Parts: sequence; structure tokens; C-alpha cells
Amino acid sequence: MRIGHGYDVHKLVEGRKCIIGGVDIPSPLGLLGHSDADVLLHAVSDALLGSCAMGDIGHLFPDTDDRWKGADSLELLKEVVRRVNEKGYRVVNIDATILAQTPKMAPYISEMRKNIAAACNVNQDLVSVKATTEEGLGFTGAKQGIAAHAVCLVDNI
Ligand code: MG
Repeated sequence: MRIGHGYDVHKLVEGRKCIIGGVDIPSPLGLLGHSDADVLLHAVSDALLGSCAMGDIGHLFPDTDDRWKGADSLELLKEVVRRVNEKGYRVVNIDATILAQTPKMAPYISEMRKNIAAACNVNQDLVSVKATTEEGLGFTGAKQGIAAHAVCLVDNI
């Protein structure tokens, strides 16, 4: 078995979609990035790549490459899982936390878990997504950005 950890941050701005965990969340502020800026899926992808010591998504899908402009991060996650499988590992479970002052995540958590589970070919019960505010502190508290942490376990196929 191997453990992986991922962390990501995206800036909150006007005029962008707020896509988190593959869910398009209604919000006056959205996430800025080269791809769809899905901060949660990026943290999960980096955790999976980290578990297999295969670098990170910035390395795999560089923002200097127009192929990934506006990319659907669920597709990027599927590619990461394909590479993890190719290396001989499968996803055992994932646990992730979103750090956001706004928008409210609770109504969307179940759909996020479903999306991640489908991309990772595991049961939804093996994917945990949580959300917390940071009590108004720091950049997430100031609504300047959203962060996400993820850990995962993989084992030999
Ligand atoms: Mg990112």
C-alpha cells in the first residue's frame, strides 16, 4: 500500500465558474485557472500522483499547454487514475477537505463524492469530501481563494 497527499489553491474572482468536485456551483465568485480550476479535483489528482511518486498535475498538464486550456478536471483525474493503474496500483480510498468561506458546499458534497468515485472506479463509500470555513481568517476567510487538501491510499492491483 502507498499513501498520497495533495494540496491546491485557486483564486476567487468575478466572471468565472465555480466548479468544485466536478459540480458547477452557483456563485457570484468563481475560480481562476488555466483549466476549469477545480481545486478539489486537483488536490485529489495530486494525492493520487503523489502516492505513486509520479509528480504532480502541473507537471503532467502544464498551464503553458493550450491543450489544457479550460480543461475538464474530471477528465484530467481520469487520466491520472489511468496512469496510477498502469503503474500497477488501484485506488483504495480518498479523504478530502475543502477550505472555503463561500459558497456553501453542503448541498453539493454528495454529487462531488459521486463524481470522484466514478472517475476513480471505486464505490462512493470509499470517497470522503468534507468542507470547512477558516472562521474568516486568512485568504480563504477573506474570500480571496479556495483551498483543498486530499489524502489517498492505493494498493497493488
Ligand atoms: Mg490547481
